[in-house]
Amino acid sequence: MKSYDSIVVGSGIAGLTTARILSQHGKKVLLLEKASILGGSLARFRVEGIPYDVGFHFTGGFNDEGTGVLDSILSLLGVRDRIHPIYFPREANHRMIFPKSGFEYIVPCGTEIVRQQLKRDFPHDAAGLDRYFTRFMEVIDNTPTLEVSGFDEFPAPLEADRVTLQSVLDECISDPIVQTVLAGLCMCYGTPPNEASFSTHCRACYGMQESLARVEDGGDAFVDALVDVLRNDRVDIRTRCTIAKCEDVKQRKVGRFVLSDGSEVSAETCIFTIHPHSILSVLPEENTSKAFRERVRDFQATNGFFTLYGTVDEMKEKGPATLASILPDTDLNAMLTCNSSEPVDGPMMVLRSPEKGSDGPVNTVTALEVAFPQTIEHWAASKLKRRAPEYYEYKRLRTESLVSRMKQFIPECRDMHVIDSASTLTYRDYLHNPDGSAYGIRQKMGQFNLFGRLPLVNIYAAGQSAILPGVLGAMTSSFFVCRRILGHEVFREYLSGKTCVSSARS
Ligand SMILES: Cc1cc2nc3c(=O)[nH]c(=O)nc-3n(C[C@H](O)[C@H](O)[C@H](O)COP(=O)(O)OP(=O)(O)OC[C@H]3O[C@@H](n4cnc5c(N)ncnc54)[C@H](O)[C@@H]3O)c2cc1C
Repeated sequence: MKSYDSIVVGSGIAGLTTARILSQHGKKVLLLEKASILGGSLARFRVEGIPYDVGFHFTGGFNDEGTGVLDSILSLLGVRDRIHPIYFPREANHRMIFPKSGFEYIVPCGTEIVRQQLKRDFPHDAAGLDRYFTRFMEVIDNTPTLEVSGFDEFPAPLEADRVTLQSVLDECISDPIVQTVLAGLCMCYGTPPNEASFSTHCRACYGMQESLARVEDGGDAFVDALVDVLRNDRVDIRTRCTIAKCEDVKQRKVGRFVLSDGSEVSAETCIFTIHPHSILSVLPEENTSKAFRERVRDFQATNGFFTLYGTVDEMKEKGPATLASILPDTDLNAMLTCNSSEPVDGPMMVLRSPEKGSDGPVNTVTALEVAFPQTIEHWAASKLKRRAPEYYEYKRLRTESLVSRMKQFIPECRDMHVIDSASTLTYRDYLHNPDGSAYGIRQKMGQFNLFGRLPLVNIYAAGQSAILPGVLGAMTSSFFVCRRILGHEVFREYLSGKTCVSSARS
């Protein structure tokens, strides 16, 4: 039986980050991935030679000076020079379109600039906007984990952890459009304003609000860079492989891991970076309490997306990427909750991005419409590429609806040519995620997520459902879990940049 210091389960950004931090410290690591390719939601796919991202379209955390939290994280991991951010235009970070009222609002970059612009454009809410942004910045100033130096300690609870985003909006803002402009980025973590705490919203959005960037070669840039250093660190990587069973549990410690290929390994620690419901299915029932299992089962999924991938001919030469949202309503609580088993026109984010196709530069369009698995649950038992004709009819109708709205409200998308589409079932099956959600579990106020050490002492959980979703949230969770495993002193030294980043094993 081969023995490891750590097994990391899942090769999404959280798994790759965890494996890298541990291998940087000389640990012998086994990385297990259920899919045939590495990278999880970050791996790109190609159609007709055109690259498309699945779960990485933009992020906060980079800045021009190279001092953003993501700059620092990637530097610590030794891959910053492999990742090239491309910033969205600062004056037009996000265009929000409200077809019902015929209103359109362009949100710029920079929290203070947004505050001043909103006060100018909505003077009736000026005083409330000041109150909102003061509270917003209080959360940011009291969240040390928004910088790498703060990864040393988990943030102390704040008053803003105990109030919902919606209650703060209601206290400060009377205009529903202003409320939606302020809360709209909750579509990037999938929890409605009446369920998310105010602090969750501030932490999830601050980076994107300060500077929004995509990355050259998209999610593949992260995956390729991290997989290269892991191979160099001689991390054992196995695809199409997972943990089938945890055996020999003594004093709450798993002694032996039976893998899906029949082999067995032992490890001092095992870190799951997969969906909490999938973690639960592997943990031995007799070693976890009923209360624990019920808590995990009760976690609710975030929304997923119905996605269109296409191209536009306009802007032949390289232009900047742009982000627009079409919001059928201002009520984000209703729009992020499944209220009907019939598909409805949901809010959608449309990203136009210049990419390198195999035949030269191409302008891609990715349109992500909020969607829920409940609307396609009649096909839940079906498998990829073997679904009923009615499912393809559902996809055709959704495609028609999205294209018609994009052509009507986003002039640059008038000549959009659709290349492919994905439903929540597609995401479920490609990403090996049990519910097709985009962001794992909802980050509800007062909820205890699966994060850090679990009831079995050598089993840990990280990943997008642990603290916050998104590339940054998932990576941050990996740092915290590694801190626990490596010990605070070693970790503090690592954060200071003093640890030699090349593997002690090579
Ligand atoms: C459509 C969509 C758009 C998004 N857009 C953005 C965006 O623009 N910006 C952003 O920051 N975030 C975005 N996200 C969210 C972001 O992709 C995720 O939060 C993040 O990538 C999650 O990383 P992870 O490592 O936690 O999980 P994942 O990427 O889901 O990785 C988990 C891995 O574990 C594997 N796995 C599952 N079960 C097992 C098992 N039993 N054994 C072994 N392996 C297993 C999976 O195959 C997968 O490779 C988006 C997500 C989606 C779906």
